[in-house]
Amino acid sequence: MLETQLSGGLTSQGGPLQPQISGWMADPLLNKGTAFTDRERDALGLRGLLPPRVFTLAEQVERSLAAVRRKSDALEKYIYLTNLQNRNEVLFYRLVVDHVEEMVPLIYTPTVGQACLEYGAIFQRSRGLFVTMKDKGRIADVLRLWPHQGVRLIVVTDGERILGLGDLGALGMGIPVGKLALYSACAGVHPYYTLPITLDVGTENPELLDGRYYIGLRQRRVRGAAYDAFIAEFIAAVREVFPQALLQWEDFGNANAFRLLHAYRRQLPSFNDDIQGTAGVALAGLLAALPLTGNSLRDQTVLFLGAGEAGTGIADLFVAAAVAEGMSEPEARRRCWFVDSKGLVVLSRAAQLAEHKLPYAHDYPEITSLAEAVAAIKPTALIGVSGTPATFTREIVTRMAQLNARPIIFALSNPTSKAECTAEQAYAWSEGRAIFASGSPFAPVTLGQRTFVPGQGNNIYIFPGVGLGVLACEAREVTDAMFLAAARTLARLVSPEDLAIGRVYPSLERIREVSLEIATAVATEAHDSGLARRPRPLDLAADIRSRMFEPNYREYA
Ligand code: NAD
Repeated sequence: MLETQLSGGLTSQGGPLQPQISGWMADPLLNKGTAFTDRERDALGLRGLLPPRVFTLAEQVERSLAAVRRKSDALEKYIYLTNLQNRNEVLFYRLVVDHVEEMVPLIYTPTVGQACLEYGAIFQRSRGLFVTMKDKGRIADVLRLWPHQGVRLIVVTDGERILGLGDLGALGMGIPVGKLALYSACAGVHPYYTLPITLDVGTENPELLDGRYYIGLRQRRVRGAAYDAFIAEFIAAVREVFPQALLQWEDFGNANAFRLLHAYRRQLPSFNDDIQGTAGVALAGLLAALPLTGNSLRDQTVLFLGAGEAGTGIADLFVAAAVAEGMSEPEARRRCWFVDSKGLVVLSRAAQLAEHKLPYAHDYPEITSLAEAVAAIKPTALIGVSGTPATFTREIVTRMAQLNARPIIFALSNPTSKAECTAEQAYAWSEGRAIFASGSPFAPVTLGQRTFVPGQGNNIYIFPGVGLGVLACEAREVTDAMFLAAARTLARLVSPEDLAIGRVYPSLERIREVSLEIATAVATEAHDSGLARRPRPLDLAADIRSRMFEPNYREYA
């Protein structure tokens, strides 16, 4: 008898085509695992399918935390957490929310970089939608296959420039999945309404094209008119199938990122986190540093190393902030200088410069090295967004400290190995006077009697709150003024205690409070500028707070 069952007659009898485990346990949004109560087990038909002892959510969190800590390898921790997310979302989010400082580096940077590189090899279960060039002509049909109704938040990548790792093609899916997890954990956007999407248009990465476990299309990247037509169809499909959705562009290559943002930002609520989110978090750091420098935004001259999405995005928002404080736009732009891979960005190079650099190409002699540029421009702030490590040398940091009582030095390139200098170098070479922040976390640094806690200029402080605010008021557009409001709010939340230890960002432990404040500021801006599609509630903050997802179990019986 048993032999007959094992010998393959089962499919013909239809048995295995029926779900074998109760849907309550199979759906990660409903599953409570060992926390289903006795009443629920009886009512939902789960008795016997679970071990008899009923656990509380707190006990499950404790057990899961111990399981994560038992693994010595960050990627193994990531895999465990991914499986937990796919099994029981309330438990996953409770764990992340309650242990945010420990969990964020595991579900997002820096671990997510390694996870993307290995995404094919560690792939177990699909999450989100893969929309490929093969779907051209029927993208709306593919979107309609998503099982959840009323998607409100999409993070989409085409995998061309994943973190600082370059073209990872379909392996880039780790980024939309991770960013949306941060939205739910850090800003309480309900995971049911979120949708990660990877647009697979091929890859130029030869290791992937030949890769044994590569999960994407094995073809070269589609570019030009065919790419643009694919994106246009995708956006039209999103508007048709998910008309309420906010769309976040994520990790697109330079040549497409600026173009797509500008082409579509008025067609549907959308923003690019690499450009605008980074700008928000960096500007917030600058604003928060002002009580330490003792001067104002108008007194700053900023020199950027790297003139890509992050650098020019930050400069554009700096200009918006300075103009809001009464400075003329040309003057504000002259306060921003760039050194790219070919040297100082100046007018005589205009013919060879990408469009996004042109507003910052000043009439100035050509300079090839950063050290010379620092000496000539005399910046108050030096911001590294070049992806090139060890470029803020001792000579450069020392020079910044000669020019300024409190030099602002932000080494924002990720991951840690790409940072322009380390926290220790910035503090040591400036005799403890640098106001330092980095893209990836650095441990506290002790110098003589003082201990400095470097701030992490992580976009996590900005985009979840901005997204929550936009969704809460159903803004029809995401504007630069909203990012300015977000940056100012974040800077305001930096406490004197934070500043006393050198940290220009609040502790990550406060992230849900930070996101709520930012969401309130963003929604206020949307209402004030007539972009909100929802009526303004009497108490905006209370309204948003009441709609945030709290990872707690509901009672089903
Ligand atoms: P990008 O590719 O758009 O731009 C990189 C820029 O650096 C380009 O202008 C390039 O010309 C320049 N560059 C390259 N090598 C250089 C060199 N040797 N000297 C001077 N300039 C050089 O990338 P991006 O999106 O602007 O990101 C840049 C870096 O910033 C990445 O390492 C990324 O991880 C980091 N970043 C950090 C945050 C954050 O911490 N919040 C956010 C976004 C980006």
